[in-house]
Amino acid sequence: MSARAKIAVWWDMKDCPIPQGYDARGIRSNIERAFKKRGYSGPVSITAYADQNQTADDLLRELSSTGVDVAHTISESTCSVMFSDMLEWRSKNPSPASMMLISNQVEDVFSWDLARLQQETKYNLFLAYSFSSEVLSVLSTSKEWRWKKLLDDYKDEEIESSSSSSSSAMFYCKSSSSCKFDCQSIEKFRKHLSSKQHALEEAVNPWSEELDPVTKTWARNYAAKPEYATAKIAVWWDMKDCRIPEGFDAIQVRPSIEREFKKLGYSGPVSITAYGDLTQTPDHLLRGLSSTGVDVAHTSSHVTCKRMFSDLLEWQDLNPPPATMMLISDMVEEVFAKSLARLQQLKKYNLFLAYSFRPYKMSVLVTAAEWLWESLLADSEKRRHLLQKCSERRGESMGMFYCKLCFCDCKSLDHFRNHLSSKEHALEEGDVISLIESVEYERRQRIEMEMFPKSKRLRKASG
Ligand SMILES: [Zn+2]
Ligand SMILES: [Zn+2]
Repeated sequence: MSARAKIAVWWDMKDCPIPQGYDARGIRSNIERAFKKRGYSGPVSITAYADQNQTADDLLRELSSTGVDVAHTISESTCSVMFSDMLEWRSKNPSPASMMLISNQVEDVFSWDLARLQQETKYNLFLAYSFSSEVLSVLSTSKEWRWKKLLDDYKDEEIESSSSSSSSAMFYCKSSSSCKFDCQSIEKFRKHLSSKQHALEEAVNPWSEELDPVTKTWARNYAAKPEYATAKIAVWWDMKDCRIPEGFDAIQVRPSIEREFKKLGYSGPVSITAYGDLTQTPDHLLRGLSSTGVDVAHTSSHVTCKRMFSDLLEWQDLNPPPATMMLISDMVEEVFAKSLARLQQLKKYNLFLAYSFRPYKMSVLVTAAEWLWESLLADSEKRRHLLQKCSERRGESMGMFYCKLCFCDCKSLDHFRNHLSSKEHALEEGDVISLIESVEYERRQRIEMEMFPKSKRLRKASG
């Protein structure tokens, strides 16, 4: 628990304005009380961002008197200034510490880069907004508030004189990247904002409106950090997306994967589960995989991602970090990314990805290594002889055969084939597929209802 750790607040006053008639001196005490109520009692720094030409002097005085710093920005670049100040603060204040963003644009503007930063170095994250989108955010937060609710909660309580020294509140000019003006008096601040010099800087070097994602340059494949070098590695592999190439010997898959791991310095024990419609997979491939200790799991393609993800969650429960997870799939961005990124902000594992084609955009998931499936297997042909030797040695550790529709397992391929052609399995598979179809049907109905609601007349008639 980081109860006494610092708390920094970046507040977009345009998105979350001070309500008409509200005493601006109450802002700090309300925020501090909200934090204290949740057990965070560290020193709170607050910076209020807006085009301060639009803010009344009394409000600025009230804010400043409670130690709230004030920053002047051009409205269009407020987010970008806030983000850059947040980055600077993170670099100066090591975690554990808390940060809070008061803005309506966290999801649209901040979330991608911030979620990546949070996967690397986690701070307690708090949000407040006057409205938010309904979609599940990629950010994992400690608490979120409605701005109005946050201000109303303690309305009737008396405003305490703040513990922060009121004289330390600053006024900053941040509308231009070259206007490095700051002062402690509102008169000087106003004078600056109306000066020729300021107008010129703002016109010549306006602060960029675009947020500059710092995590974009993070490397994709880097050497193993010591804590991961010998830790477990679990691999979940969708064989439909990333197939075993024609003519490729299945016993080479595990050694190829392990060799790539070793190149980066990972030598921990590797478990691999291969998912697919195994009724369509020839015996020699399954035998080859199993003989090298690769588990194979039968699924229907509708539920492959679901089964992979629930297996991953189960594995996380049994294997606390440090450990490495790897997903071999083309659906990571569409299906896994959001939930997994949230998980990674709570409990961080090292993450590898492989896919059959490069994603069109960089993932919100922070990875330690990524491969093209084809290139991961590429130089195996040359090494066939050597590899066969390796896998012969592995003979004794056979992979298991799972049916992820009936949730049963077999140790031998023959038993497994018997299971896959059994009546019980056929019934279960039928149930799973009709369930998926009915969920899909309901979803369709719901969307149709939203798009074409019944007319009033019809609704009346139906009572
Ligand atoms: Zn200026
Ligand atoms: Zn089954």
